[in-house]
Amino acid sequence: EEVVSKNFIEQEIDKDLAEGVYNHVQTRFPPEPNGYLHIGHAKSILLNYGLAKKYGGQFNLRFDDTNPTKEKTEFVESIMEDVKWLGADFEDRLFFASNYFEQMYECAVFLIKKGKAFVCDLTADEIREYRGDFKTPGKESPYRNRSIEENLKLFEEMKEGKYQDGEKVLRAKIDMASPNINMRDPVIYRVARMSHHNTGDKWCIYPMYDFAHPIEDAVEHITHSICTLEFEDHRPLYDWVVRECEFENPPRQIEFAKLYLTNVVTGKRYIKKLVEDRIVDGWDDPRLVSIAALRRRGYTPEAIRMFVDLVGVSKANSSVDYAMLEYCIREDLKLKKPRMMAILDPVKLVIDNYPEDTIEYLDAPNNLENPELGERKLPFGKELYIEREDFMEEPVKKYFRLFPGNEVRLMNAYFVTCTGCEKDENGNVTVVHCTYDPETKSGSGFTARKVKGTIHWVAAKTAVTVECRLYENIVDEEKGKLNEDGSLNLNPNSLTIIKNCYVEPALAEAKPYDSYQFVRNGFFCADCKDSTPEHLVFNRIVSLKSSFKI
Ligand code: ATP
Ligand code: MG
Ligand code: MG
Repeated sequence: EEVVSKNFIEQEIDKDLAEGVYNHVQTRFPPEPNGYLHIGHAKSILLNYGLAKKYGGQFNLRFDDTNPTKEKTEFVESIMEDVKWLGADFEDRLFFASNYFEQMYECAVFLIKKGKAFVCDLTADEIREYRGDFKTPGKESPYRNRSIEENLKLFEEMKEGKYQDGEKVLRAKIDMASPNINMRDPVIYRVARMSHHNTGDKWCIYPMYDFAHPIEDAVEHITHSICTLEFEDHRPLYDWVVRECEFENPPRQIEFAKLYLTNVVTGKRYIKKLVEDRIVDGWDDPRLVSIAALRRRGYTPEAIRMFVDLVGVSKANSSVDYAMLEYCIREDLKLKKPRMMAILDPVKLVIDNYPEDTIEYLDAPNNLENPELGERKLPFGKELYIEREDFMEEPVKKYFRLFPGNEVRLMNAYFVTCTGCEKDENGNVTVVHCTYDPETKSGSGFTARKVKGTIHWVAAKTAVTVECRLYENIVDEEKGKLNEDGSLNLNPNSLTIIKNCYVEPALAEAKPYDSYQFVRNGFFCADCKDSTPEHLVFNRIVSLKSSFKI
């Protein structure tokens, strides 16, 4: 029998199903449309979607849009796009919490009628003062014992717009002596004379999150309401709301640890500042870890899924090394993408004994480890570009690339022997010279001599000039993420733009989001914002070297 280890949430679900608490599984992802989604949200999306799939249940996308102050329609669109892109297909199960305002209002009235909620005239500051803290028990509000009739009338008046913001609130009547501060008569409705992006001016009272969320879950017949650890202390209130509102088959809340990544910035406050200060190019800058940024950088949903699976689900907060995410994208792309020739730091190589004006088309396999990707024709000629670091006039020890007198293999082409170089007045190498041996053509079966070095190249005549953007982590945690004044300690080298890179002509076709392996230089993706057929721009997704071991 196959042994499959289950995470703690799956174990809880198994138990619920076995005990008949539920007979199906219904999950949801409930974002507030107040910003972009990031890698942490991806974990929650894939977790909830994965559980629904695994148990033959359903997955809802629900916008938790009950707070009129912060939400914007523009984020609704981007969140839907991101969730779909990640592969969490919500089909027609798209919901908006603001569509339940009527039900929430009815729940509030129901609680008042049960004597479980009251209208309170204390100010926000007074409420805080009365609430007490961990050490001191709370004090009951002087309005706590209003009659049901009076509470119904006052709540109705709140709804009718008779009171200003903050003048009155509705509070659950629970227990001011509870050791859990969330249970000390929490506010469940407030007056806010504000337009809502969905309901316009229909409402001037809005439910608080801790009251709204359990009702949203219950209305959608969610079984397992999965959220992050900071809501653990709110669970008693969640349970109180669904119990006192007398929902049948109420949902239950299960918490897991948030995903944190090292060397990245996820806080909205910081990202906003980076955007405003023009340090990054919007919230989809490839150095960020919003879903849109990862997509723009060249990450795939498969890689993100692999990453989330590797990280697993736990009850303890911890940070995951960014290198693990890089490992996942390398694994995903290495067999899927063609290996192309691109020179990022070019110097010219002239083959003095090769015929002038000849273009020869050589066969090049697209991916040595995956023959299914086929072959392509690679133009070759007398003048090539090679990487500047592949020539040394005076070689260091163990240097096997080009230096005067040394023979190397030009990948997919011929052996060449370096004969010397030309330099400008500052001593910079401008041209490297060599001769080739026609007998050594790749694929000809030549075995008479061996060489130690192989270098890549691009034929000058057919080369396409492109821009490449190389990235490093935007902050370096080892050097301290924050400065003393609380600002981010930014890595000044997080972006390097190289304007004149040369690539083989097959890359001229690259469309936004197309990605490739550039031999020896890493995986690259055509930028979706700035790359055009006339001016191609490639983002380096990740280099080939790995610091992460599994
Ligand atoms: P942020 O402030 O980073 O936008 P949030 O908690 O305000 O995060 P919401 O839109 O309220 O974002 O959350 C939607 C869902 O995503 C919630 O269930 C939340 O618990 C979950 N979530 C948010 N951040 C993470 C994270 N880092 N790891 C896992 N799940 C997360
Ligand atoms: Mg959010
Ligand atoms: Mg939130």
